[in-house]
Amino acid sequence: MGRLILVSNRLPVTIHDDAADPAVGQSVSRSSGGLVAGLDPLHLNGDGIWIGYPGTDPDDNAAKLLEDMRLDPVAIPPDEYDGYYEGFSNGAIWPLFHYLLEYCEFDPQAFAAYKRVNERFAEKILEHAKDDDTIWIHDYQLMLVPSMLREKLPSARIGFFLHIPFPSSEVLRVMPQREELLRGLLGADLIGVHTFEYADHLSRSFRRVLGLEARQGVVNLSGRGVRIEAHPLGIDVDSQRNAAYSDEAEQILTRYKRSIGDAQVILGVDRLDYTKGLPNKLEAYKSLLDREPRWREGAVLIQVAVPSREAIGSYRDQKSEVERLVGEINGLYGRSGKTPIQYIYGTVSPAELGALYRLADVALVSPIRDGLNLVAKEYVAVRDDGAGVLVLSEFAGAATELGEALRINPWDIDGSAAQIERALDMSFGERNERMAPMHRRVVENDVHNWVRRFIRSLGSPKNEIPATPPMLASATLADSLSGLFASAEKPMIMLDYDGTLREFTVRHDEAKPTDEIRSIVSGLSSLKDADVFINTGRDRQTIGDWFEGVDVTLIAEHGSWIKYKGDTDWQRTGDEPDLSWQAEAMPILEDYKSRTPGVQIEKKSSGLVWHYREAEADIGEFQALDLTTHLENTLAGAPIEILTGSKIVEIRQYGVDKGRAFKNVEELRGPYDFVLAIGDDRTDEDLFEAIGSEGFTVHVGPGGSLAASSLHSPASVRRLLTHLINARS
Ligand code: UDP
Repeated sequence: MGRLILVSNRLPVTIHDDAADPAVGQSVSRSSGGLVAGLDPLHLNGDGIWIGYPGTDPDDNAAKLLEDMRLDPVAIPPDEYDGYYEGFSNGAIWPLFHYLLEYCEFDPQAFAAYKRVNERFAEKILEHAKDDDTIWIHDYQLMLVPSMLREKLPSARIGFFLHIPFPSSEVLRVMPQREELLRGLLGADLIGVHTFEYADHLSRSFRRVLGLEARQGVVNLSGRGVRIEAHPLGIDVDSQRNAAYSDEAEQILTRYKRSIGDAQVILGVDRLDYTKGLPNKLEAYKSLLDREPRWREGAVLIQVAVPSREAIGSYRDQKSEVERLVGEINGLYGRSGKTPIQYIYGTVSPAELGALYRLADVALVSPIRDGLNLVAKEYVAVRDDGAGVLVLSEFAGAATELGEALRINPWDIDGSAAQIERALDMSFGERNERMAPMHRRVVENDVHNWVRRFIRSLGSPKNEIPATPPMLASATLADSLSGLFASAEKPMIMLDYDGTLREFTVRHDEAKPTDEIRSIVSGLSSLKDADVFINTGRDRQTIGDWFEGVDVTLIAEHGSWIKYKGDTDWQRTGDEPDLSWQAEAMPILEDYKSRTPGVQIEKKSSGLVWHYREAEADIGEFQALDLTTHLENTLAGAPIEILTGSKIVEIRQYGVDKGRAFKNVEELRGPYDFVLAIGDDRTDEDLFEAIGSEGFTVHVGPGGSLAASSLHSPASVRRLLTHLINARS
């Protein structure tokens, strides 16, 4: 097992030139912040290194300190850094990926610097990295690095996380360097983004720009898969809460309360960036005050505006515009001693920020585009008193997780004003009802969980995509199997049900076997000396009822139960399962169900299934992905497995699977001299793996599988089985 190498534009430190003792030289302090808090434990507890730009050239003393911290600085000449950072990263990628084409400058020289600096990073990484290392690269400044490394390290695990939005392919196409950027990313094994929507945009861009097909989030390069996954970043909940509930925060809170009196507080905390929609927010607030005089005294907007990228003209313009609007509104509606907007230009301490989160009746987060937005999550994490309301732009990545917030479209000024007013007027009960589930979610999906999830996913063998088996016509397959089946002394056939014998139906309880299926199964099962099994994930009650009167052996719930041909009773195949985890899982499934129209929950004796076939496809996929991550976190350690099948998320008892069911019956009733297994989804892969080359394995539908061949559809399966019956009859 190799080491972990973290790579980010900036090292998680600041080098200070002004050390107290000039004879000693520069000093180094660690940076704070959510992402660093998440990655630091990973770095400190391992033996890997962190590579990044140090901000300032380190002198001998600082270099030694960095080395002791296992931080390796990348040296970059200042003019090259400018072209790379201000020029291409912040002058082209940043505005384009936030859909702000008017701010984009695609300067070829800046791109050349971007490429050169990406090479410098790759060279530095290669000084350390070995083929068995895991390398995790962060963000839009380093999009070319994964492929630069892949050429030299064919077997390393390379992960990339994009912390800003990934735009629609229509917007990406504007960029002259679009192909190079996408090819750069393809060196990674796993590309993480914040939301399903960004993952979708990235997949479509691979297709539209490079002509590469992404299936179920995997771009299949020859012999290697590149996975695209949504992992919304979490926050450092503990440090946020500690800061907000510290003595210092308490004192600041008291001071604010005294100066503000009875007015309700609306809080904005934004970097002065054109993506944050500050002018829109101020216009919306003005619209509310224009229309509703009661809020001129009844509310106050505290806006923290954090200085940002002041070397860039568009950022300076943004600042002037914001300050002009603040002046205008305060001029219009200010009274002696009362200003409608308290404008704080600068950074605030963690304790002050925490106090403001506690003070604010309403947090107003209104970016016109934002990869995620941590402020929204921080407010929710601090507010477990249930008295706060989050008003959140639909264009913030966090909106997908914070569904109970009051949504706004920041471009709709009057609509936003109406939502702010709704928040101010909201009853305590409704505030609490909306905040509690968001709070729970934010606390559970904190930055440490985010790190664990990403690293686990990067290390999982899911990348080894099975090849796509040849798709055969049912008659061709029948030709090669009929003779062997007809002459076998003891043949066995194991069939999945849904998607294999029977086409999917919209409702999972409507997939009863048709007369044709019943007759095929009876026909097969009555063949002399043949053992025929329906091996399904369905619960035993349903499958038992559906095959009532058909004399065939049924295996239910992926092998938990078996009912032999001729028997009336089901037998458990293993020990009584420990189902205590269900109490924890059920409320989560219910929560996601309530937010995903069309979902049904199925309860089985050894598992729970969340069906989303009836949900709107994109929303269903997104929620399923999110649910899976959520379950993985919450149920870590429980004796279960979480499976994503065809429009289902299933939690089932660990160690019970269709492959094991096959092994059990083979041991009890085998050996067989002819084995045929047919199935269509992930759970059937266990079966194919267990059979290996001992028998014939057939996957139904397109896509990769461990099976030796594929058939097109359940109709082809039924045709094949009919051929086989005729051959042996
Ligand atoms: N923040 C800060 N100092 C301040 C105000 C805010 O460090 O004076 C932090 C805030 O707590 C949050 C981050 O800055 O963690 C802003 O993150 P967000 O995702 O909201 O926006 P970004 O600035 O990354 O675009």
